[in-house]
Amino acid sequence: MKKVTCPPCGTEIRGETDDELVRNVQDHAKREHGRDLTREHILAAAKEA
Ligand SMILES: [Zn+2]
Repeated sequence: MKKVTCPPCGTEIRGETDDELVRNVQDHAKREHGRDLTREHILAAAKEA
């Protein structure tokens, strides 16, 4: 399990795998902030949860 805290809004986003985390964060960033984040960017910001 990994997690990322979204910088603009503080929402904590989790995923069981790297792929799931990346998908969840990309969905959130696009939907809530209109931003496209790369996989590398997301995994660099991810922490073990
Ligand atoms: Zn956010």
